[in-house]
Amino acid sequence: MSSSPRVSPTSTPAAPATPAAVTPMGWMHTARFLTTAAQLHHLPEMDTPEIAFVGRSNAGKSTCINTLTQKKQLAFASKKPGRTQHINLFALGKQGITDTVLADLPGYGYAAVAKMDKLRWQQVMANYLVSRENLTGIVMMCDPRHGLTELDDILLEVIRPRVEEGLKFLIILTKADKLTRAEQAKALSIARLQAGGGEVKLFSALKKQGVDEVAKLLWDWTHPATGMAPAPAPTAPPEEEPEALDE
Ligand code: GDP
Repeated sequence: MSSSPRVSPTSTPAAPATPAAVTPMGWMHTARFLTTAAQLHHLPEMDTPEIAFVGRSNAGKSTCINTLTQKKQLAFASKKPGRTQHINLFALGKQGITDTVLADLPGYGYAAVAKMDKLRWQQVMANYLVSRENLTGIVMMCDPRHGLTELDDILLEVIRPRVEEGLKFLIILTKADKLTRAEQAKALSIARLQAGGGEVKLFSALKKQGVDEVAKLLWDWTHPATGMAPAPAPTAPPEEEPEALDE
């Protein structure tokens, strides 16, 4: 367990630092809770692209999702009693037009979870990652001070065939503010070797490092046709309810 104070993203949208991130950040801010499921067959079948967030417990996954979506509590809903071992789905896109789903998978490796529950959950996660048809990409959170753990490696092996077939993959090195520049560079190069063709990005919720970049990457994954479209010029920081998004 970390002794550091909880990092709280603001509930209002952050002003993107780069024009290219205006649309992705506005899109991220449309995130809303969709549903929660304890078992795979309880998940709704969807034909929209889905991006799964996975990571060891305490890696910074909830904080990262909350920071990307600029919603204080969104992913902490996944930490409410009774929901910690659920797959929680969040919808992205203009109200009524979900164009992407974010899937927050339970953090693994938490010591206090009974062994049987751990094994059951590893199985549910593996089945989800291997069989979810609309899965477009996987984002793995990793605390670079600990590096990839044994459970991360197992998960990497599970998804490797799908990544080789074209599934998008990103490793986010969280809590980058805790590393010096030299340590960040070293962590990046190690993770790049392990990512097997996937991307690696440094991220700090505290310093808002990497937020725009990750939002833009996820936008590009799920909007390939518009990925190169110029973003609207930033006139003012987006309001609480962002402007209509480009199709
Ligand atoms: P999860 O279990 O993977 O969802 O992890 P949390 O999002 O709950 O984060 C675990 C701990 O790491 C909390 O104490 C957070 O405040 C802290 N944390 C998360 N992101 C950052 C960050 O970017 N910088 C720092 N310094 N701490 C962070």
